[in-house]
Amino acid sequence: MRMKKYTLALSLILIINLGCMKMKEKVDLIIYNAKIYTVDSSFSIAESFAINDGKFIAVGTTKEVSEKYYSEQAIDMQGQVIYPGFIDGHCHFYGYGSYKNSVDLKNVKSEEELLQRVVEYSENNESVWIRGRGWDQNIWESKEFPGNEKLNELFPDRPVLLIRVDGHAVLVNQAAMDLVNPDADQIEDYLVLQDGEFRGVLIDNGADIFKDSAARLSSEEITKALLIAQKDCFEVGLTSVSDAGLDQEVVQVIVDLNKADTLHMRIYAMLNPNEENKQFVMENGIYQTDQLHICSIKLYADGALGSRGGCLLDPYADDKNNSGLILHDKDYYTDYCEFAYDHSYQVCTHAIGDSANRFVLDLYADFLGTKNDLRWRIEHAQTVHENDFHKFADYSIIPSVQPTHATSDMGWVGKRLGEDRIKNAYAYKRLMQQNGWISSGSDFPVESINPVFGFYSAIARKDQQGNPEHGFQMDNALTREEALKAMTIWAAKANFEEEIKGSIEKGKWADFVVVDRDIMTADESRIVNTQVLNTYLSGREVYTFEK
Ligand SMILES: [Zn+2]
Repeated sequence: MRMKKYTLALSLILIINLGCMKMKEKVDLIIYNAKIYTVDSSFSIAESFAINDGKFIAVGTTKEVSEKYYSEQAIDMQGQVIYPGFIDGHCHFYGYGSYKNSVDLKNVKSEEELLQRVVEYSENNESVWIRGRGWDQNIWESKEFPGNEKLNELFPDRPVLLIRVDGHAVLVNQAAMDLVNPDADQIEDYLVLQDGEFRGVLIDNGADIFKDSAARLSSEEITKALLIAQKDCFEVGLTSVSDAGLDQEVVQVIVDLNKADTLHMRIYAMLNPNEENKQFVMENGIYQTDQLHICSIKLYADGALGSRGGCLLDPYADDKNNSGLILHDKDYYTDYCEFAYDHSYQVCTHAIGDSANRFVLDLYADFLGTKNDLRWRIEHAQTVHENDFHKFADYSIIPSVQPTHATSDMGWVGKRLGEDRIKNAYAYKRLMQQNGWISSGSDFPVESINPVFGFYSAIARKDQQGNPEHGFQMDNALTREEALKAMTIWAAKANFEEEIKGSIEKGKWADFVVVDRDIMTADESRIVNTQVLNTYLSGREVYTFEK
């Protein structure tokens, strides 16, 4: 790397200082002459740090660190900017990797283009299922859900599953229906009827039945997916991810890959609600290694606004007969919360609509009683009723939000919610103010994995093209400092990990990123093009930008 030639210069200085070197402590790595945002409690800026055994052992000025430590690897950063390793507080790390092994339907502009991509993929891939993800009828001229007639003609024997961009709706062909063969009463509430007819689109619980069948991958395929995801995450400066919903078959592969020293990404794994995962909790309690931390259960209260599955107190503004659904009966949620509470596990519940958020806030309140430090979370907290915001504070419930959802949805979501409700949607500032902190993530692969896009959406409330000119509902923009904390120290805190990561402080894992510009001071328009130059995890370089 470019900076290494300066290693020699520092070595010379160190040799000149040989006399006092004896008193200095040798360490694995020293970084100096940098602009380091430590994100410590006073948000201080440092110039240098020393790393040994994968952890920061000193942080300070170049002089302070060089007086006490020396290293054969000392890097002059020449003023470059360093942040703590970025943390995605809510994403689908494994899902992203398996998504990259499927048909990419993001940004397809029509049903014809969707079919074309599926056909191209099918010709080059032999898998039993054809899996795809990313379509969004809201960006098509027709705005209508697709149908499966052409897929039935093209693939009479090969099951096809095409997942909508938000993950809450699927299009399946007849071969998939025949293979999975669900009971009619399992799916009847989740069929999307188009002119009174079922044409292959299912939402939420109905969609999940097909996703589960098609998702059964071999451990080789799971391995491939995890390693693809790791590589891409390191490239954008992520050193930790909170995977919002994993099953045991994936957890076990992660454990094996950690042991084999091939998967290094720090993963906070929320467990999906199922019997196998409950068994894991009963056998292991809280599970924590250097790379994998499991102490939470993921629940889903409702669906998403795009497919009108988000559960609202009043009907959708553009569908007066529909308010969305809570996905299970109350006992289901109470039982899982009780199970989590008894095992000192955190509960993380997906809630989009104002009715779903109220439901989860009240459900949590029954268990939590008052202010507490159990850090039960609401994932997304997308639309919250005016009278419910204070409950986040009253019961210390953590909002886990995705700033890019605001700027991806802003073009159409007003039609779904109407003028009044939209004001309390994507209300990140107001949510942050309830407890004084908030966790942010991207929900990738729903959105891009690049955490800088989330930072930009959070502060500018604009999409990556810079629209709208004055930002979307700017009352709820975060400051740059808040947005950086939300993707570092606060995201760590939402995972009970603020003592080991999320900032550049003595004793913490030496996870950090070097970037080509200072997102805290750069002109707003320059933020989205930020380039990560190097990513370090435990003091080890895991990504280097090659020009
Ligand atoms: Zn998610």
